[in-house]
Amino acid sequence: MPVLNVCDLHKSYGDLRAVDGVSFSIEAGEIFGLLGPNGAGKSTTINIIATLLVPDRGEVRLDGIARSSSAAYKRKLGYVPQEISLAEKLTARENLMLVGRLYDLSGTALRRRVAETLDAVGLADRAGDLVKTFSGGMKRRLNIAGSLLHEPDLMLMDEPTAGVDPQARAYIFEIVERLAEGGRSILYTTHYMEEAQRLCRRTAIIDHGRILASGTLAELVAGIKAKRDLVIEAEGLSAQTTADLAAALGGVPWMMDGATAHLNIADTDHKLLDVVRAADKAGIEPTTISIHEPNLETVFLELTGRALRD
Ligand code: ADP
Repeated sequence: MPVLNVCDLHKSYGDLRAVDGVSFSIEAGEIFGLLGPNGAGKSTTINIIATLLVPDRGEVRLDGIARSSSAAYKRKLGYVPQEISLAEKLTARENLMLVGRLYDLSGTALRRRVAETLDAVGLADRAGDLVKTFSGGMKRRLNIAGSLLHEPDLMLMDEPTAGVDPQARAYIFEIVERLAEGGRSILYTTHYMEEAQRLCRRTAIIDHGRILASGTLAELVAGIKAKRDLVIEAEGLSAQTTADLAAALGGVPWMMDGATAHLNIADTDHKLLDVVRAADKAGIEPTTISIHEPNLETVFLELTGRALRD
């Protein structure tokens, strides 16, 4: 039985449909990705599950318990908000003691959980240091520790790597993976396809409040036409020349990432020589041309016609 069942969620702000019929489910021990650009509806979805927002309609069940403000429902979930909420003038340990009391933990049980969670996020040796001396990555990790104190079944992680450097990001990945190995289920939102691809067994692609597709990478790729990611680097590459090349290759979806163009191609239709000829005709002088396996960005591009970070 799934740990989390989300069925046909809707939430509008005036005329804006922030969440427009979202459904998915998460199995025990699964890291499930919600991947979409800024404004896609990820936070709204998470905030509804966390009971911070009330949906216009739709249903959420967590371990079979219907979404409600009841303690039974809330105890099952750990919420890691996008905004870090820590008291800078307190130590890491003091911050967690405060959060733990909100969950009715006290005495030895509270001290034990604080020590365990500090250890789980690699901050045991900094327990007595003031949070204001922490790096951005350490604050993110402490934020995660706070949501773990009451041993929730499901973790809601809203862009947990926002604003951290690559090393701190890698550390957060390790923590997330260890949590899942320990049997926790995780709903992980991100607009970085690399994160979803690295961490998540299954991913739902969300845009304008709707889930466009969901599944494993292989399932998502099987559902689109493109079978390869054609990558062209060229000096002076422009949107116009890239569009011309895409048109010459049969009107394939394309996107630009700086001086690099990505085009969705079918592996059988486009031979490298055809690509070189078409590029030449479009006035592109490639410095490199390479053909890669499709990734989640390829899927997003085909489903929306846009890049994830447009
Ligand atoms: P994401 O987390 O994917 O970036 P959000 O769920 O935060 O997306 O937002 C979805 C859409 O709803 C966006 O267009 C956003 O501007 C809008 N939105 C979010 N919160 C509010 C609000 N309180 N009032 C009005 N519009 C909102």
